[in-house]
Amino acid sequence: MLLLGDAAFVARPHTGAGAGKAAASALTLARALQSHPTDTDAARLHWERDQLPADRRLVRWGIALGRRIMDVAPAL
Ligand SMILES: Cc1cc2nc3c(=O)[nH]c(=O)nc-3n(C[C@H](O)[C@H](O)[C@H](O)COP(=O)(O)OP(=O)(O)OC[C@H]3O[C@@H](n4cnc5c(N)ncnc54)[C@H](O)[C@@H]3O)c2cc1C
Repeated sequence: MLLLGDAAFVARPHTGAGAGKAAASALTLARALQSHPTDTDAARLHWERDQLPADRRLVRWGIALGRRIMDVAPAL
């Protein structure tokens, strides 16, 4: 089973990245399957190895953006 897009995880909305993430995941998965046409396990592992660090960076970026937006005291 493979999870893509919002089914895999949801980044914070201020990243504005949900649609791009879903499309990029589908595209990179298709490329991985094309490069391993007879071995879907190898394709999945290859894709996952590249995918997870990027997804973790997006989560961290969303958290950092949220902190910047929410933690700033309003100027008086
Ligand atoms: C209000 C709002 C604003 C957003 N703004 C942005 C933005 O500015 N930029 C951005 O990048 N992202 C934005 N997003 C996020 C973005 O829409 C999602 O991250 C993206 O659509 C995820 O794509 P997906 O294919 O994973 O899921 P979805 O687009 O949710 O597609 C899932 C599909 O599966 C179908 N489905 C569900 N259950 C079944 C079933 N049992 N059988 C068959 N089909 C089923 C659904 O009908 C749906 O068509 C926004 C989201 C919301 C709610």
